[in-house]
Amino acid sequence: MSAFSLSDRRALVSGANTGIGQAIAVALAAQGARVTCAGRRACDETVAMIAARGGVGETLTLDFADPMAARDVFAGQGYSILINNAGIIRRADSLEFTEDDWDAVMDVNLKALFFTTQAFAKAALAEGNTPAAVVNIASLLSFQGGIRVPSYTASKHGVAGLTKILANEWAAKGINVNAIAPGYIATNNTAALRADPARNDAILERIPAGRWGAPEDIGGTAAFLCSPAARYIHGAVLNVDGGWLAR
Ligand code: NAP
Repeated sequence: MSAFSLSDRRALVSGANTGIGQAIAVALAAQGARVTCAGRRACDETVAMIAARGGVGETLTLDFADPMAARDVFAGQGYSILINNAGIIRRADSLEFTEDDWDAVMDVNLKALFFTTQAFAKAALAEGNTPAAVVNIASLLSFQGGIRVPSYTASKHGVAGLTKILANEWAAKGINVNAIAPGYIATNNTAALRADPARNDAILERIPAGRWGAPEDIGGTAAFLCSPAARYIHGAVLNVDGGWLAR
């Protein structure tokens, strides 16, 4: 069997109805995983894309505005892959930033990520679903400060930290925990940036690869990190950014 195969694995991808999460779900299914596409809206389009390529997927409604939403999802279900992709961003000057914009982002991007991962790992370890893999979707703002996005930056720095502590605690138990830090990827999340010619040009000028990333660029990386080929990778925050951080 290929070192990159995910056959006989069951995976859950959060925020799989669109963008990066959709591409990750399709990439995992292409390697043979059975993929639960979780989102606050139905992931029918993603499930159809998986089926059209001969894979197996299903949709599950979960709203991570409740950080404990996935508490009962994993027990007895045979999951060995979790992709924490769901995320939101709120923009305002730090002088004006509201508690609501702080809590909403931290709840989805950080608190839900931790407690979803805890529920996944409890089931995987209790039921022997190892080797297992967790991939968290971090950001360039896990390394850089950004501007006017204080809760997003705090949450994504937190994602990098959680990736490392969970790797430390679980590496010897058979769970690989890693993160991907996407660069500028063409999704709903970045539509406003791409629509602003000045911002678009400034971003492209700094990317050595000379183009926006595609969601598929992240999908392939996630599939690799879940595969046997990545079994000695623990606690990495892998930037997939067209070279942005190398500048
Ligand atoms: P996106 O198209 O906006 O996707 C975000 C996903 O998260 C959507 O499926 C969204 O569902 C889901 N989501 C948001 N709140 C949720 C909630 N309360 N419960 C369940 N699902 C929820 O943007 P994207 O670019 O693909 O973002 C995916 C991840 O990549 C995020 O964590 C983001 O921070 C990260 N990221 C993106 C970039 C980039 O350049 N695009 C760069 C770095 C990191 P709805 O469709 O219902 O809103």
